[in-house]
Amino acid sequence: MQVGSLDIALQRKAIKNLHIKVIPPDGLIQVSAPNHLSDTAIRIAIVQRIPWIKRQQKDFANQPRQSARDMVSGESHYLWGQRYRLEVIERHGKHEVKLKGNSKLQLFVSAGTSKARSEKLVVEWYRSQLKNRLAAILENWQKKIGVQVDDWTVRKMRTKWGSCNPQTKRININLELAKKPPECLEYILVHELVHLLERHHNERFVSLMDGYLPNWRLHRDLLKKLPLGHDDWKY
Ligand SMILES: [Zn+2]
Repeated sequence: MQVGSLDIALQRKAIKNLHIKVIPPDGLIQVSAPNHLSDTAIRIAIVQRIPWIKRQQKDFANQPRQSARDMVSGESHYLWGQRYRLEVIERHGKHEVKLKGNSKLQLFVSAGTSKARSEKLVVEWYRSQLKNRLAAILENWQKKIGVQVDDWTVRKMRTKWGSCNPQTKRININLELAKKPPECLEYILVHELVHLLERHHNERFVSLMDGYLPNWRLHRDLLKKLPLGHDDWKY
């Protein structure tokens, strides 16, 4: 059901009252309605709750955000939930980002490199880290679930950890997941792959998630608690 610009997953059930839920990670709206209620009555009930629905959807966008990074030595940067100290090393030659041991993130740049350029180098490094891990676990999960995506991309997304278009079989994964514990990436991937079997967040969806990833609620709650990257996403 479509109400204005809102996409509603509607379920009719033998219940007394209408219930509306807004479900993470992508803020979809699930409505359970009594069997006897007309479509018009359901629409009216949803329209009345629009301010509440919008507030719920905004919660994601309003999660605490990290402060901006200055790309200077000593700053903390995160990869797979681990903290690394940034060490900026000026040198001639190729720009490079790499880990040293299990506590340092080294950024090799030529003298006078701008903050924006340094940020871009680190963002692209995160992107390659995420793509590598995703490629490694995607195959395995596609086999387990018995689905195949046609394409996947890693993107910066302001309000979603992931998204799926079941028609085109494309999934998008939020670049920020490279900073979170690996279970978070796995949860989002499984969630998006399950959408290829079930478009809506209904009971079937939940039981598929329970079957494939019994601990998914823990991973979801962990993700909800972690700060999102700061707002100023340029690349
Ligand atoms: Zn979903």
